[in-house]
Amino acid sequence: MMDHSRLIPPTLDSMTVADIAARMTADGLAAAHAVTLFRALHSDLPGDLSATPLPPPLARWLAAQPAPLVSHVEQAGATSSDDGRTMKWLLRLADEQRIETVMMGYPGRRTACLSTQVGCAMGCVFCATGQMGFVRNLTPGEIVAQALFVACRARETGGDRLRNLVLMGMGEPLANFDAVMQALAIIADPRGLNIGPSRISISTAGHVPGIRRLACQPRRYRLVVSLHAATDEERTALVPINRRWPIADLMDACREYAARQQRRILVAWTLIAGQNDRAEDARRLVSLVRGLDVQVNLIPLNLTDGYAGATAAAADVTAFQRLLLDAGVPATIRQRRGIDVAAGCGQLAVSDCT
Ligand code: SAH
Ligand code: SF4
Repeated sequence: MMDHSRLIPPTLDSMTVADIAARMTADGLAAAHAVTLFRALHSDLPGDLSATPLPPPLARWLAAQPAPLVSHVEQAGATSSDDGRTMKWLLRLADEQRIETVMMGYPGRRTACLSTQVGCAMGCVFCATGQMGFVRNLTPGEIVAQALFVACRARETGGDRLRNLVLMGMGEPLANFDAVMQALAIIADPRGLNIGPSRISISTAGHVPGIRRLACQPRRYRLVVSLHAATDEERTALVPINRRWPIADLMDACREYAARQQRRILVAWTLIAGQNDRAEDARRLVSLVRGLDVQVNLIPLNLTDGYAGATAAAADVTAFQRLLLDAGVPATIRQRRGIDVAAGCGQLAVSDCT
């Protein structure tokens, strides 16, 4: 499939300090200016370079760079939940494609939920993004720009710092591996947004080669694996890419990640009434994760137009959790947030944000 993101010229917000320095020295400018420019680009006024006075040689170099200098992300819609703690934005990109970005507010800190692709090719049946299909990958700059956008809004609405990132918006992050790693390296830089790898969670539907590559990264990001079912037959019905990367391969990749990164893995399990919320499902999950350091996060299904399944009953959710806890598997129930603005897990689709 053609990757249209490659047709978008590289912008300065897609570059690390080292990338910018390399470009500057190739043009005969001192590499020391790279940090000044990086700070200006990743300050609280995203994209507004005019707000920072720049040394004349740097300003001249900048004026000679091909436009656009930074990724175009323009607010095209905004909604907030009734309690005001979750905000969702529809952002328009340079080619008119639209993505969604969410900010979740907790006391004293903010978390951004970023998109990594326009649409998604994985086709999970219960997910609004999966239902819209794959359009294109996001560039590193477009991922960074979302984080800057949320950091800026966090400051405007209460002054809390953006502390955590979750890649749980539209798209499968590990299917856009290089762009995601480049974006996270930029976001983690202490001279910029300074959100370290331990505060960044990468959620995957089970992209096995991506998990193996993540296992070898020098930065220790948190891994979230969206499992949802413990037999291949059941999982393939919910998460079709399970046909390509079945459960045994997925668990092998998880073991490799755990061994190399020495980090607990979060297992996401979306609970659907009568499908994967029974005691036998919980028992199968327990045997599957035996010997692996995991925490299970249970997510009652959020309803989407394209899927007929029902949310698990509250009693079944707690019974499922109890069974896991009794078997020694840590398990939490994900707080349902932003449901009234369709910003809950799996509800991010362009059509529902106006
Ligand atoms: N593509 C990645 C990250 C984005 S989806 C992944 O699949 O992990 C973020 C999380 O929302 C995943 O755990 C996904 O399984 C879950 N999810 C998707 N649709 C949902 C829905 N309708 N209700 C509840 N959770 C859902
Ligand atoms: Fe893609 Fe994740 Fe949705 Fe599956 S749940 S379709 S992987 S965004």
